[in-house]
Amino acid sequence: MLVVKDLTKKYGKTVACDHVSFMLEPGTITVLLGPNGAGKSTVMKSVIGFLKYEGSVSVGGYNNKTVEAKRLLGYIPELPSLYPNLTVSEHMEFLARAYKLTDYKPRIDELFDRFELTDKKKKYGDELSKGMQQKLNICLGLLPQPKILLLDEPMIGLDPHAIKELKSLLLRLREEGCAILVSTHMIDSVENLWDRAVIMQKGVVRANVTHEELEARGETLEQMFFEITEETPEMLSPDGNVTGADE
Ligand code: ADP
Repeated sequence: MLVVKDLTKKYGKTVACDHVSFMLEPGTITVLLGPNGAGKSTVMKSVIGFLKYEGSVSVGGYNNKTVEAKRLLGYIPELPSLYPNLTVSEHMEFLARAYKLTDYKPRIDELFDRFELTDKKKKYGDELSKGMQQKLNICLGLLPQPKILLLDEPMIGLDPHAIKELKSLLLRLREEGCAILVSTHMIDSVENLWDRAVIMQKGVVRANVTHEELEARGETLEQMFFEITEETPEMLSPDGNVTGADE
């Protein structure tokens, strides 16, 4: 459903990702793991079509920059970008109209209910706490019901209830046949959620395994992650996630 082949992105002399290849199958959750700076966000932003890159990204058989591909793809960015002068409800309404969605109101109510935004409907974007902004960010990504969903560090800033709801929603989407890619540097947050794990380090894919393959080896995801990354433990510090404009 989504095929990434030899994706290479350079920011000046920095090679953020180097010949990255992987596939997402319908009805599966793939986790994209790696220390900060491994290249996860760059992969996500390239796949969604925000960056120029070398290599190819095919979405349901279409190039990722085509309208057909964009209809299939959904993206929940790491940092929410909300409109300060639109209310929570107006954000959803705006998105629904942009996507020309029909019969979307019950879905908005369900999402608001799940993420405890029902009593925040009239609040403006700049009145929301960081956690609430992230919840709205997630609701916006889920409203169009994409067939392929990319989530960049989605658990950051969420309270335990919202994490539980997000996980159960992802499992439901998987059952419905959605192909899901979740990037994170927090292995605990994706435990029991993943079908396939792609581990990146320094821009390169170091491992690509299914849950069954790892279980058959008697290894945990955490063990494999540290085997791969322990050569450079300093990269595991919780800061240094560089983003910016070089697009
Ligand atoms: P991750 O999401 O795994 O933390 P990123 O994709 O954000 O990693 O970053 C990969 C590499 O690319 C890092 O070395 C980072 O410093 C660099 N990088 C990311 N975005 C930019 C940018 N806009 N300009 C220059 N370098 C960048």
